[in-house]
Amino acid sequence: MAKSPEEQRPKKAFGWAAKDSSGVLSPFKFSSRATGEKDVAFKVLYCGMRHSDIHMVKNEWSNSLYPFVPGFKVGDRVGVGCMVYSFRSCHNCKVDLENFCPKMVLTYSVKHYDGTTTYGGYSDYVVLR
Ligand SMILES: [Zn+2]
Repeated sequence: MAKSPEEQRPKKAFGWAAKDSSGVLSPFKFSSRATGEKDVAFKVLYCGMRHSDIHMVKNEWSNSLYPFVPGFKVGDRVGVGCMVYSFRSCHNCKVDLENFCPKMVLTYSVKHYDGTTTYGGYSDYVVLR
């Protein structure tokens, strides 16, 4: 019998999940999807999600002080917004509007293209493109 995408995942994770519309978050164990060639996986130490980084990179608030380094390498601290994947080849992605990508995958509560579910950032482990 074939394993489900969740059963095939190599990395177990823990998070605080909304399991209904009550607004209450409770403990939740899950598995993150496997990393692909263009993916990164990292341990989450703190969670606070913002759109600010994208606005700052594009100087959309006219107060960016260049240079600054929004990218990262192994060992750097990183941040994740409300999306974990975009196609990278469509028109919207090519003009840095990945949030309008028709193939964009949100950080939580959707199915990823490999069939796994994205569970969100209030967890200890995240995989993204
Ligand atoms: Zn795209």
